[in-house]
Amino acid sequence: MPTGVGLGYDACPMSEIPVGMTLRELQDLIRRMYGDKDAARGDAATFLWLTEEFGELATALRSGTQEELALEMADVLAWLATLANIRGVDLDAALAQKYGRGCPGCGHSPCDCDPSEKP
Ligand SMILES: [Zn+2]
Repeated sequence: MPTGVGLGYDACPMSEIPVGMTLRELQDLIRRMYGDKDAARGDAATFLWLTEEFGELATALRSGTQEELALEMADVLAWLATLANIRGVDLDAALAQKYGRGCPGCGHSPCDCDPSEKP
């Protein structure tokens, strides 16, 4: 697996930081790091953390640096992966099912849904 230097991972116990992982690999990484804590916390409390991270992402979008923006996006994705783990959802499979055949609304790629509607 390709490795590289990440941002803000100083506390990470791994000697090498995975880069370019699949969502399934992200879910496995999160499960190894936090699985017991996540199971104890449960889905509702985890969802609250996810929404807090969305707030931090909003702040980074408005006034953060590019690095802060990237790290907040990583947090949102990590908390979504956590929620998926808790509820037994395989994000790779879900994405393939939902978006693998083009836009869920019109079935095309690129989407040709009416721009006034949510695709
Ligand atoms: Zn569409």
